[in-house]
Amino acid sequence: MDIQSLPLPEPFIRACKNKGITSLYPPQAECVHNGLLEGKNLLISIPTASGKTLLAEMAMWSRIGAGGKCLYIVPLRALAAEKYDEFSKKGVIRVGIATGDFDRTDSYLGDNDIIVATSEKTDSLLRNKTPWLSRITCIILDEVHLIGSENRGATLEMVITKLRYTNPGLQVIGLSATIGNPGQLAEWLDAKLVTSSWRPVDLKQGVYYDGKIRFAGSERPVHAKTKHDDLNLCLDTIEEGGQCLVFVSSRRNAEGFAKKAAGALKAGTPDTRELGRQIRKLRDRDEGNLLADCVEKGAAFHHAGLLRQERAIIEEGFRNGFIEVISATPTLAAGLNLPARRVIIRDYSRFSSGLGMVPIPVGEYHQMAGRAGRPHLDPYGEAVLIAKDAPTVERLFDTFIDAETERIDSQCVDDNSLCAHILSLIATGFASDEQALTEFMNRTFYVHQHPKTRSLPRIISDAIRFLTQAEMIHQSEQTLSATSLGNLVSRLYLNPCTARLILENLKPGKTLTLIGLLHVICVSPDMQRLYLKSADTQMLRTFLFKHNDDLILPLPFEQEEEELWLSGLKTALVLGDWADEISEKQIEERYGIGAGDLYNIVDSGKWLLHATERLVSTHIPELGKTIATLATRVHHGIKAELLPLITLRNIGRVRARTLFNAGYPDPESVAKAGVSRIARLIGEGIARQVIEEISGVKKSGKSGFEAENKPEYKPQKLT
Ligand code: ADP
Repeated sequence: MDIQSLPLPEPFIRACKNKGITSLYPPQAECVHNGLLEGKNLLISIPTASGKTLLAEMAMWSRIGAGGKCLYIVPLRALAAEKYDEFSKKGVIRVGIATGDFDRTDSYLGDNDIIVATSEKTDSLLRNKTPWLSRITCIILDEVHLIGSENRGATLEMVITKLRYTNPGLQVIGLSATIGNPGQLAEWLDAKLVTSSWRPVDLKQGVYYDGKIRFAGSERPVHAKTKHDDLNLCLDTIEEGGQCLVFVSSRRNAEGFAKKAAGALKAGTPDTRELGRQIRKLRDRDEGNLLADCVEKGAAFHHAGLLRQERAIIEEGFRNGFIEVISATPTLAAGLNLPARRVIIRDYSRFSSGLGMVPIPVGEYHQMAGRAGRPHLDPYGEAVLIAKDAPTVERLFDTFIDAETERIDSQCVDDNSLCAHILSLIATGFASDEQALTEFMNRTFYVHQHPKTRSLPRIISDAIRFLTQAEMIHQSEQTLSATSLGNLVSRLYLNPCTARLILENLKPGKTLTLIGLLHVICVSPDMQRLYLKSADTQMLRTFLFKHNDDLILPLPFEQEEEELWLSGLKTALVLGDWADEISEKQIEERYGIGAGDLYNIVDSGKWLLHATERLVSTHIPELGKTIATLATRVHHGIKAELLPLITLRNIGRVRARTLFNAGYPDPESVAKAGVSRIARLIGEGIARQVIEEISGVKKSGKSGFEAENKPEYKPQKLT
């Protein structure tokens, strides 16, 4: 089917042609036949690289042409950025991205034709009654199989249910490469199902054992250049001009493999050395940068412990063909468009508590295998599993290559976020009694899968009881309404259990220490905690011995609760060190974490402290100011003495410390010192800007920094 013949706006067709896209792939044509451009709901379950994103764009441009507005929902922030860049390139239409703060309506986003958002952000926009959401006429659900994900699926399911409820006539397009029960999901979405196994590049799936890869019906020898099978498989592909992705189970394995591969590649090129230089520049220190050392040779590792910018450099370096091999944890398979000629799924078992080592899900295998073969660049793609002995060869074919993908199951009533969803349904006016809540829940995928469920009324009643006891909802006669606390909790996007924990433990009159506060938010269900390692026990014991009195929450007796309490303490200590200006390198070494982990913990900590401040200022005003100060310290990673300086634009934790140590503790003293002295400390450009800013503030009498989320500048010394 020729793109030119489709009823799509001219600029879109031109942009496609510029990318070399002139006709549709067969599954794409099938989607058009099934009403993609006529507002019909579709569930599209076709392999990776078969052009799902283009289908989403066609549907969205067609809706926009008819005066509509589209929401593209993704599971990860990194994916939102990737899609935003891709859609923005076509020009003409306006594209916005929503991944940030959870308590804002982001009304400016409503001016866009396409808004790319994570499911959590979409949920928070719904809870804050964002007006432009009612004008959405098409939603795209990228990686829709994640509705079955244990910790994130419930939110996606609720978002879909709410949007379909509020926006009649909404076009819903679900995209996925791997669903075991697509028919059932399509039925729930009132969607036509399009499935296909067609791929633009042939995919061969096989098992390596004893010097050969066995594919169904053929074999391929692999020369043993080293004593490592996984490395030999990589070198074999690189030698013939391809690139490799190696999936392993842990960060340490990813780093170990990249080091091994870098050792075997040896030389590197001017391009890889330039990439290595860019990576070194991102961190203050030069030594011990394993990633840069590997990238210089043409190998890299990719996992959630890396900085966002490091990941971006690696991904771009791989796409450009400079980096020849990436070893990655499975997160890379979750949607990122990073294909390679050969994909090696090295670790296909995973530890599961109570069960020991178990095979990874078939769906996950297919997500990884699907990355093999770069359209237009590779003659074919190969996905290879490695067998340890002869009998394992057949077993791997049965367990993964020839196996059916798992069904996806609704998570919406098992998830501990159900209470939060029920509260938001009441607070936003979706439901004002138990009957209405049941009717709403009847529209979920859960009830579609379990039409005869008897447990739903009990689950709803339990949630209502909890929310009533927590004073977040109020019942009069049969009517349910949110209290002001309930409304606030819903808008702040807090789990009601988190809000309750905070309000029960932060009491006026008690001395509040930074670590005591951080520990409370770090044991809450909204915080992503660090895992406890055996080496942590001693460190935590020593801390408790010295500082037990600083904590608010007592050590629990139950073992499971104790583990949560301790991992919360470890996470709190990371945040505490950050706010005490301990260097990033020291923090990473002390807790055995990566820079990306630190970034993620600080990011979640900032959000939760901001929410705590809002909650406490309203309900325990005496504590509001103390928490605001502590929140600012964590936000910027500074001791209290730097608070006056941090109000200045362009002054972060490092520059503020330099100025303070040189005898300039506040904006007044900086202004008084003058540009030339300050320039010697922080460079002339910044010194000039800072001093201009201080004199501007003095003249106008207002700070004007709020837009940047800087704390209000108060000249007095805070402790
Ligand atoms: P998916 O989302 O299914 O993994 P993408 O939409 O990312 O796949 O498409 C993979 C690549 O194929 C992209 O570079 C895209 O531009 C290209 N592509 C998509 N459709 C076509 C087409 N009809 N003709 C040529 N190239 C296409």
